[in-house]
Amino acid sequence: MSKEYIVLDLEWNQGYPKTENSDIPFEVIEIGAVKLNGDKEIIDRFESFVWPTVYNRIYFMTAKVTCISMEDLKGSDRFPEVYRRFMKWCGNDFIFCTWGSMDLTELRRNVSFHKLTPLAKGPLEYLDIQKLYSLEFDDGKSRLSLEKAVNILEIEKGDAFHRADSDALYTAEIFRRMKKRDLEKYLSFDLYRLPGTRGEEIHAAFPTYSKYISRGFSDRRKVLRDREAASLKCFYCGNNTTFHIPWVSVNSKQYYAMGKCPEHGMMRGHLRIRKNWDGAIYGMKTIRPAKQGDEGELRQKEKTAKEQEKKLKKMLRNQSHQIQKNNDDAFS
Ligand SMILES: [Zn+2]
Repeated sequence: MSKEYIVLDLEWNQGYPKTENSDIPFEVIEIGAVKLNGDKEIIDRFESFVWPTVYNRIYFMTAKVTCISMEDLKGSDRFPEVYRRFMKWCGNDFIFCTWGSMDLTELRRNVSFHKLTPLAKGPLEYLDIQKLYSLEFDDGKSRLSLEKAVNILEIEKGDAFHRADSDALYTAEIFRRMKKRDLEKYLSFDLYRLPGTRGEEIHAAFPTYSKYISRGFSDRRKVLRDREAASLKCFYCGNNTTFHIPWVSVNSKQYYAMGKCPEHGMMRGHLRIRKNWDGAIYGMKTIRPAKQGDEGELRQKEKTAKEQEKKLKKMLRNQSHQIQKNNDDAFS
């Protein structure tokens, strides 16, 4: 039997400014899921409200968007029971599918808050249907709301949006309409937990680019000094390339580089430095074969970066002159 898909959607509540608990900013109040078999046929559905442990009032925006009231939640089990029931329902061989990247992070945060068995030690693989929608039907970059995508694909609308069971069903229906064969190779990784060691770091090969996610570091410079994070490997053979344009940055969060593989030509790398929710700094790098125009674009970035550096140096020099002058004036 091939792998099943668990299309998941959550609704969560949050605290008012004074009652907010930073360990669980978003408390799950509803879990909805649809189970699809390997042929993407719907084989089962899961729906449950969750009786809250932390926030005993529904936040006004949550009430407005979801229309869920405390009255609705009455009689439901608390998170640990619902979660155990849900995981049992999921089975053993499945991959999560969600619309966007938030649900699994918040689910895992709730699991951690209640000290339950974690879904994964490090990053968790899943399919982001919102991203796949963009790759299949759009430009690959844009991210539409679930309702917009449902409208565009003319999927029949039954229950209201922003409820876990109906949103999970809409997401599943969108997923069922995707036909591109290699789409499911575009895995996403939920980073509620970053890779813990170098050996656990993510090296993923997609049809058109490769992706690397580093372990967590205490600061940005350590990421840039790490030999793996700072490398630029060939998309095709994985060998180190010779840098043609070394990593250049215009804002210290995003770096670009070009390198040449003797066999496969020019590669373009994009390294993003990110901060995780727990403060850890990590690198997320994508590499793809260079296209026409890439070199010109990167040379321009290089120029801008150099000009910025010059400006900064000049500013610092002027400042120190000013300080020196003030000191001299004070003593003259
Ligand atoms: Zn190569």
